[in-house]
Amino acid sequence: METVLEKLAILADAAKYDASCASSGAEKRNSMASKAIGSTEGMGICHAYAPDGRCISLLKILLTNYCQFDCHYCVNRVSSNVRRARFSVKEVVDLTLGFYQRNYIEGLFLSSGIIRSPDYTMEQLVRVAESLRREHKFAGYIHLKTIPDADPLLLARAGAVADRLSINVELPREESLARLAPQKNPERIRRAMGGIRLKIEEAKEARKESRHAPRFSTGQSTQMIIGADSTDDLAILGSAANLYGNYKLSRVYYSAFSPIPDASAVLPLMRPPLMREHRLYQADWLMRFYGFAVEEIATGAVGGMLDLGVDPKLAWALQHRECFPVDVNRAAREVLLRVPGFGTKSVKQMLSSRRWRSLRLEDVSRLCRGIKTAMPFIVTADWQPGAAIDRLDLREKVAPQGELFA
Ligand code: SF4
Repeated sequence: METVLEKLAILADAAKYDASCASSGAEKRNSMASKAIGSTEGMGICHAYAPDGRCISLLKILLTNYCQFDCHYCVNRVSSNVRRARFSVKEVVDLTLGFYQRNYIEGLFLSSGIIRSPDYTMEQLVRVAESLRREHKFAGYIHLKTIPDADPLLLARAGAVADRLSINVELPREESLARLAPQKNPERIRRAMGGIRLKIEEAKEARKESRHAPRFSTGQSTQMIIGADSTDDLAILGSAANLYGNYKLSRVYYSAFSPIPDASAVLPLMRPPLMREHRLYQADWLMRFYGFAVEEIATGAVGGMLDLGVDPKLAWALQHRECFPVDVNRAAREVLLRVPGFGTKSVKQMLSSRRWRSLRLEDVSRLCRGIKTAMPFIVTADWQPGAAIDRLDLREKVAPQGELFA
């Protein structure tokens, strides 16, 4: 019988493959040997962004890594030969409170393999969150993974106590799900997402009427695994656009498939380049905050795959040179947002500053970090790019060197 610490080691490790709370890894450092201060070896602690944009530390664990399903890409599948463990509801509650009181964490991300039945498992997850909120008055952040096959009443109970819910669609195409996760049902996943969307919207409306209306999770998110099947980037983005549009998801997380211990023979042996995951996040950002449609992003892609050499906005601009240069003193917000090197914040500041004076190149360079990339695409009070936009070697001139994940 494992101790709580041994279970924590197993169940925190098993949770690390789930990206749907946007955890970030850290290099392992222990102060014991070096006599330095601090350690990053705390098991199960990861970082995520709260709905208001703050970076928070979470205890990220599974209730159990036993699972009766056999999803090929998952280390916890029933046929996987890994060490298993299971927390009781009380153990998770005590661990969360203990870590919280020591200021190690600001919240909990709790998921689970499916044991006995979807309802039984979901109820265990809900009981953890209800106990924390109601018995212990826990005010920290709670993200619960929900099980699509569970009774909608259980999902409603989960939403009443969690800040964020997530249901993983896992794979971008139904054929891939049928091949790699045959026990998962895309129809039931969509139905559960639709039900949660409805509850979130109802709760928002009710809160407008009265501050005392019952609360419900402020959003739902999902994860798609990239590179476990042959789906190309544009199909992945199309699927994400559909999820954002139909289910109003707060986030779609893209997780580059990584070969797992005791991997199934139907999976690829190699993980896709991390840059692919990074480009998908950039394209996702373009869809959500920059007004790009998937079809527009597609014009900068080759064979359905995003260009790994340059970011998708620059790839689009290079393909649409007829749209440039744009005058930063006159162009509308949505036009400025398409300039490579300009972010939403810098565009907002430019729009505000130009009400009082004409912006010069130096002003723009103070407001945006990517001025070198932007220069051939803009006109300012004292700058004209001339024929730079038509140069054959423009891509080489403006492509950032030594980009992260290259
Ligand atoms: S249901 Fe979830 S935990 Fe179980 S095998 Fe599939 S992905 Fe893994």
